Amino acid sequence: MALEKIDIDTLDPAATIVVATGNAHKLTEIEAILGKVMPEVRFVALGQLGDFEDPEENGTTFLENAIIKAQAAVEETGLMAIADDSGLVVDALDGEPGVYGARYAGVHGDDAANNAKLLVNLEGVADEDRTARFMSVVALIDTDGLVTYGEGACEGVIAHEGRGDHGFGYDPHFYLPEQGCTAAELSPEVKNQISHRGLALAELKKKIDLLYPQA
Ligand code: IMP
Repeated sequence: MALEKIDIDTLDPAATIVVATGNAHKLTEIEAILGKVMPEVRFVALGQLGDFEDPEENGTTFLENAIIKAQAAVEETGLMAIADDSGLVVDALDGEPGVYGARYAGVHGDDAANNAKLLVNLEGVADEDRTARFMSVVALIDTDGLVTYGEGACEGVIAHEGRGDHGFGYDPHFYLPEQGCTAAELSPEVKNQISHRGLALAELKKKIDLLYPQA
């Protein structure tokens, strides 16, 4: 889904939040959750305001990388900005792929290669030790530099076989014992309710409610 371009000069700085993503689905998800506590705010994707270079995500935690992305968007636009960083943490691999999830197998965003590497690295690991969690941090930075963030985690197990057509990334191999299926077999609506990103946004929403009650 291509997003419409917006002239930044037409935006009200007091009522706009830039979402540091080119992903229309993330924009919709963030808007759906945060729009409830900030009904006056217009959420726009960074990519709608121009072609900005991605900052180097050289943080060692999800929080650091979320802040790097949101801070870069604040500096580029002069507007309040929000960014998320997320990944898969596998216990038997000492937390890998972690913050390096998108480029685990070398090429950024090659989901098939990343999943293949994950399975190879877990060869010989007993089923009960294939526990893992998706983690997400969503950070909001206002034009005074105040950082507010929410964190979320979703527990699961790495399945031997991939299943399901929804979602992206590691979803086909992320088995959710409570749901009895993989994350890629969930509808987007259900995934958003229980996912790491959905939970991180819910926590951020609560903090925004307290910090910006007039919004
Ligand atoms: P990013 O936060 O968009 O950079 O995501 C980092 C990587 O973590 C992605 O490329 C995916 O491989 C993985 N990841 C993050 N969230 C999810 C998810 O909800 N499902 C599957 N993989 C995810």
